[in-house]
Amino acid sequence: MSSYGLVINGEKISTTDYLDVLNPADQSVVGQMPLASTDQLDDAVRAAQVAFPAWRDLDDKERQKLCNQLADKLEAHHEELAKLITAEQGKPLVQLGSRFELDGAIGWSRATAALDLPIEVIEETPDGRVELHRKPIGVVGSITPWNYPVMIGCWHIIPALRAGNTVVIKPSPLTPLSTLRMVELFNEFLPNGVLNAVTGDDQLAAAMSAHPGFNKMVFTGSTATGKKIMASAVDSLKRLTLELGGNDAGIVLPDADPKQAAEGLFWGAFLNNGQTCAALKRLYVHADIYDAVCTEMAAIAQNVKTGPGMEEDSVFGPIQNRNQFEKVKALVDDAKARGARILTGGEPMAGEGNFYPITLVADIEQDARLVEEEQFGPALPIVKYHDVDEAVKMANASPMGLGGSVWSSDKSKAKQIANRLECGSVWINNHGAIQPNAPFGGVKQSGIGLEFGMEGLKEFTVTQTVFV
Ligand code: NAD
Repeated sequence: MSSYGLVINGEKISTTDYLDVLNPADQSVVGQMPLASTDQLDDAVRAAQVAFPAWRDLDDKERQKLCNQLADKLEAHHEELAKLITAEQGKPLVQLGSRFELDGAIGWSRATAALDLPIEVIEETPDGRVELHRKPIGVVGSITPWNYPVMIGCWHIIPALRAGNTVVIKPSPLTPLSTLRMVELFNEFLPNGVLNAVTGDDQLAAAMSAHPGFNKMVFTGSTATGKKIMASAVDSLKRLTLELGGNDAGIVLPDADPKQAAEGLFWGAFLNNGQTCAALKRLYVHADIYDAVCTEMAAIAQNVKTGPGMEEDSVFGPIQNRNQFEKVKALVDDAKARGARILTGGEPMAGEGNFYPITLVADIEQDARLVEEEQFGPALPIVKYHDVDEAVKMANASPMGLGGSVWSSDKSKAKQIANRLECGSVWINNHGAIQPNAPFGGVKQSGIGLEFGMEGLKEFTVTQTVFV
C-alpha cells in the first residue's frame, strides 16, 4: 500500500497516525491519509508565512512561468493522477471521469497562468495621477471537497500562487491522496514553503479555518460548512471566497424539442454521477411535453452503465461515500413513499460498492425532500408545471442560487425567463458548462465571491489606491 505524507516547507512529512482511504467501488483500502497534528498545521502556516515575501517579490514573469510548469507537471503525471482519482473518488477513468478532470485542471491552470494584473490608471490630469494596484493577500488556506479533488485544488492553488500568495491546502479526508501527490509533484520545483498540504479529520479542518495565520480562506464544499468557516473568520477578518452547495433548477418550456432537450438535460443532471455543484438538481417541465421528456430521458438512462470506474465501459461510478449514498437513498425512498413515480433506477445496486443507479423520479411535488434538498447524487426529480410564472416561482423558492437553465426553441424568450432566475450562472439549452474565462459563483446561500478569469484572480488580491 502506498504511503503518503504531508508536504510542509518542501518536505514530505510523516505523522504518528493515519486513516485508511477507501475505494468506493469495493471498500478496499487505496492508501493511508496522514493525520496532521495542530502543531504540524502551525508548521505549514509558518512555512507559508516565511516563504511569502520572496514569492510576492519574485519577478511576475518568473511566477507566471512557474505556474505554467505546474500545468506541465499535471500533464506529465496525467495517467498516474487520473488512476488515483478513480481509486479514491470512484469516477470512471474514461468518459467524463478522471482523465477529463485532469484535462480540466490543466486547461484551467494554463488559462489562469496566462492572466496579468496590470496597474489600472483611474485618472490622469496635469495635477496628478490616481492608480489602482493589486497586491497579494498573504497566506491563503484552501479547503476542498471530494467530488473533483484535483481540479478544484487547482482552481484554488493556481490563482492564489499566480497573484503572489503562498498556500496551505487541506483536501477532503474522503479523497486526500491525489491532492497530496499533486502537491508533492509541484514541490519538485516550487520554492520551499510556497505550497504546503496538510490532511486530517474535521477537527483539523475546524482548527485550520480558525487559524489566525491565514489572511484568506478559499473554500469549496457544503453550505453548512461554509457558514462555520465564515463564523470562524470573524476574529481576524480573513478574506473569504465560499463556493457552496447548489440546488439548480431547469425549466423546460412547451416549445422545446423533447428529444434534443433530453440529451442536454440528462448530462446536465448526471455529470460525475450528479456529484457536481452546478448539476441540474430539479427539473420543471411543461405539462404539454412532460411525458415526452420523461420518456426520452429514461431511454438515455437505460443505455448507460453504472459500474467500477476502472472498467472501460462504465459511464458512471459509485457514489463517493456511504453518507452521500444513504442521503440519496433516503430522498428517493421518501419520494416513493409520497407516491412519486420511478422511471428508472430507484433501488441500490447489489454488492460491496456504493452503487446507486441513475434514478429519474416523475410526478413529484415541489415540497418533496428530493426537490427541496440538495441530493448531490444520481437522482433527479421531474416536476410538472402548467404556467411558466409558477415554474419561475418554484425555481426561485430555494435558499440556494448557484446555477439554473431554461430550455426552449426560442432563445430570446428563454433569455427573458433566465433573467428572472435567482442564480449566479444561467444557461440556455445547456446546464453546468463552465469555462476558465467566465466568472463562476453562487448567489443567496450558494456562496460569496467568484472563481475563474480576471474576476476570480482578483479575489486573491487586495487593492491599494496610489495618489501621485
Ligand atoms: P463538506 O462541506 O462536507 O466538506 C468540504 C471540506 O470541508 C472538506 O475538506 C472537509 O474536511 C472540510 N470541513 C469539514 N468541517 C469543517 C469545518 N468545521 N471547518 C472547515 N472545514 C471543514 O462538503 P463535501 O461533502 O466535501 O462536498 C459536497 C458539497 O460541496 C455539496 O454541497 C456541493 O454542492 C458543494 N460543492 C460546491 C461547489 C461550488 O463551486 N459551489 C463545487 C463542488 C462542491
